[in-house]
Order: sequence, then structure tokens, then C-alpha cells
Amino acid sequence: MVPAEGGIVAPSKKYLNFIDGKWVPARSRKTFADINPANRDEGIGLFPESEPEDVELAVQAAERAFSEWRLVPPPKRGEILLKAGLLLKEKKEELARLMTREMGKVIRESRGDVQEAIDMALYISGEGRRLFGQTTTSELHDKFAMSVRMPVGVSGLITPWNFPTAIPSWKIFPALICGNTIIFKPAEDTPLCATKFVEILEEAGLPRGVLNLVHGGPSTGEAIVRHPRIRLISFTGSSEVGRLIGEHCGRALKRCALEMGGKNAQIVMGDADLDLALEGAVWGAFGTTGQRCTATSRIFVQEGIFPKFKKVFLERSRAVKIGNGLKKGVEMGPLINETQRKRVHEYVEIGKREGAKLEIGGRPARGKGLEKGFFYEATVFTGVDPKMRIAQEEIFGPVTCLMPFKRFEDAVRMVNDTPYGLSSSLYSRDVNFAMKAIRDIEAGITYINGPTIGAEVHLPFGGVKNTGNGHREAGQAAIDIFSEWKSVFVDYSDKLQKAQIDVD
Ligand code: NAD
Repeated sequence: MVPAEGGIVAPSKKYLNFIDGKWVPARSRKTFADINPANRDEGIGLFPESEPEDVELAVQAAERAFSEWRLVPPPKRGEILLKAGLLLKEKKEELARLMTREMGKVIRESRGDVQEAIDMALYISGEGRRLFGQTTTSELHDKFAMSVRMPVGVSGLITPWNFPTAIPSWKIFPALICGNTIIFKPAEDTPLCATKFVEILEEAGLPRGVLNLVHGGPSTGEAIVRHPRIRLISFTGSSEVGRLIGEHCGRALKRCALEMGGKNAQIVMGDADLDLALEGAVWGAFGTTGQRCTATSRIFVQEGIFPKFKKVFLERSRAVKIGNGLKKGVEMGPLINETQRKRVHEYVEIGKREGAKLEIGGRPARGKGLEKGFFYEATVFTGVDPKMRIAQEEIFGPVTCLMPFKRFEDAVRMVNDTPYGLSSSLYSRDVNFAMKAIRDIEAGITYINGPTIGAEVHLPFGGVKNTGNGHREAGQAAIDIFSEWKSVFVDYSDKLQKAQIDVD
């Protein structure tokens, strides 16, 4: 068992995989280092660099556990999840502080991330007493018909680093309630949050082998995707990686749910409550340092109010306080790693080359206490053509484009003109615009008078076009990913009845 956290962790502290109910190193003993993005000198720990043979052991354990777990009555599975939810609640502050150290988001947001997992545990544990199917009629005499949900089997869950507790909970809890067993590979930038999450499920009484944690990077993920006896892949991450995973699963006829990138937009109509729209835009663009799949990376403002909106938005964006997310008053933490900082900066250079006007930001943030972290300034472009790469591609950093429009229809057309379709927002007091936005914006989520971020766990979450492949997480939709329908017919007529044939 990994000992409990207390204070600063020595860089050499070693963490383990969790396979078949035991904490074990990778067979090769290889490890990778995890550091604090706000201070690269602060090591979080060393984690196993797992290889295909570790994945194989995890699959064997999950297969063994499946034969019993699938038979545990769902309300009993729900009780374990409820207990996990209560443990998460008890440890919320400890987990949130670890998250800020490991991933960088400001402490208030880390608390929100853990809260989302608590909400999901409470919501989905009740599902153990529902998992509804249908009973229906039969076209034949003395015949009973119904459909029931069955587990899929051993499931591979691959998650990103930006919501290190919430996203795993969105996959693990629904997968468990449906009776599946799991191989869980968290992002290599947030393995400690994942370890703590698995410890909580262990403490809640999950039987051995039901949940197996296998740390590692892309090659570990690939070993999971390619494993022939893993029947389902649920992936959240970039569209580039999701496409590769989808291709493989397509060929292998493997069930596959993909949640990927976004290029989310906020529309501000001339009649909007300007202060509210400004507050929403700053939060949407720079919350989580822009590293949310639902971040507001395009803001369309109606011409009449554009100059005023721009002036105040730039003032407020310039004032966003950057620093270590554990410090009081800090509003924006670092980017997750140096690679991500370079990527964000490259996009800023692309924007300048394309002819957009860099209004503020556009460089690594400097100042006392920022020297050792991957900090980047809040960055705003104007003079952006909606076809430019900065307005089309996901940047995943604190960069947003401010663009004017004339008519509502023009804004909707530009909002829809990207390969993505995750989240969207409209600020207006006119109910007609609100209803048209709900109808016409091509996205999985539309907020009216709210920013592009703010999902709740009991509603479906996901997007259209390159954001997803038709599935949704959370809500009842999650149950559809993690269960197979079985149709059942019970004939009590004592004779052979032929459907479609023995009917007049
Ligand atoms: P990523 O695609 O680089 O990695 C995600 C996960 O996949 C990690 O665990 C990684 O190790 C693994 N992985 C990488 N290559 C793999 C491969 N070839 N085979 C199997 N697994 C592989 O994404 P990221 O940088 O961790 O996260 C950022 C991305 O996630 C952004 O694009 C963001 O929009 C997206 N995201 C989407 C949602 C959503 O619900 N739509 C939510 C959060 C983040």
C-alpha cells in the first residue's frame, strides 16, 4: 500500500501500479518522473513505466475478477461507490492540494475537480438500483419480452491530465456500476492523483482485480488499445490520439468511446448584460489556464458593443493574477509542462504570422516566484480572420481570439465553422436568440448566459464533429457506453411459435 501523503514528497519517492489487488512495480522496474509544473525542481515522485507485459498481467487479473464482479448485485456495487464518494468527500482538501501541486490548477478549481468525482459517485451509486431496461409486448401469444443491460467485460480507460480526478471518475464509476472490470491508464503528468483515486476505491472495499491501475505514457496506452482481450476502450484526450485509437478499434471491432478536443465559442449579443458576459469570458478563456476541453478560445461580440467589450476584456485579462495555485489570490496557474508551453507559444507565433493583432500576453510569464514554472501570460488576439489557424485549431492554453460580428446568423455561422463541436455559449436577453442558438449551434453543449464551462455530472457530456464519435459521458449516457443490451424472450405457450410467421 502506498503510504499517505504528508508535506513535500521527495523526488525519489516511488509509486506503484495496482494489479490484482496488490501494489507492484513495472516488471521492467523502469520508472518516469512526475514534477510540479509550478516549480520544476519539486519532484512529486517516480511512477512505473509499464510495458505490454504489465498490461497483460492486469488483463488477466481483470478477467478473473470479472467472473465474480459481473454477478455482484448492482445495488451492492453501488454501496461500494457510495462509500468511495464519502471517502472522497472526507479527503477533499488533501486531494485538492495534491492536485494543485501535481497539475497546477488553482486550489479552488482543484476542489471543484474532486467535487465532480464526489458528485459522480453519489449520482452513479444510485444507478445500482435502476440500470433500467424495458419490458414490452410480444407479437405472439403467451410470450414475454424485455431488454436488460449486461456488462461489456474488461474495459481499458485512458485519461488526460487536465481533470485528474473528475475524468477518471466519469469513466470508472459508470464502468463499475455496470459490472465491468477495468484497466486504468491515467495521464503521465498526473499519476499521483490517479493513485490516490485508486487507493480510495481500494479502501471502499472494491474486490481485488476489479480495478487495475497501470501507469505509463503513450506506449502503455497503445498496449491497452491493442490488447485483444480488452473489449472496450474509453478515451479522453486529443483528437490526434483519439483518431488513432478509433482507427484501431474500428479494425478490431472493439467498442470505443472517444471524448476529444474543442474550439469553443462565446457569442455576446448587443443586448447582453455586458458585465456578466465579460466575467464569463475571462473565466471561460483563462480558467484552468485555458487547459479545458471546454475553454473559450473564440469570443464573438456584436459590432455595436465590440469597442467597449474589448477595452474592458483586455483590462481584466491583463489583471489576471498568475502564480502557484496554492497561493491566495492567484487566478491562473502554470501550463502542465514545457512541451505544452512551447506549443502554446508556437500558436502565438502562428497567429502573428497570419496577421492577427496580439493585444496582450504572448509570452512566458515572468516575475518573482514564476522562474521555475511553466507559466504563460493571458493572451488575447484581435484582427482575427475566423479561417486563421488560431481560430480553427485547439491551442489548449490561455489564448483567446476576440472577433466582431454584425448579425446573429453571422456569429452562428462562424461558431460552426471549425472541425470541433464541444461547448458553446450565448449571452443575450432575447429569448428568440437563445432558442435559435440552442437549435443552430453545432455543439454537444450550449450555455445561455453562462460561459462555455460548467458541466454537471447528471447530464450527457461530449461533442459533435471531431470532438467525439457519437458517445456521451456522464448522465444516463455513460451507462450506454459501459453496458450491452440483451433482448430476452420468455415463451410460456408450450409450443413452437415463429415470430413474423405465426401471425395473421
Ligand atoms: P493526449 O491525447 O496527448 O493524451 C491523453 C491520454 O492518452 C494520456 O493518458 C496519454 O498517455 C494517452 N495516449 C497518448 N498517445 C496514445 C496512444 N497512441 N495510444 C493510447 N493512448 C495514448 O491528450 P492530453 O494532452 O493528455 O489532454 C489534452 C487533450 O484532451 C485536449 O485535446 C483536450 O481537449 C482533450 N480533452 C477532452 C475532453 C472531453 O471530454 N472532450 C476532456 C478533457 C480533455
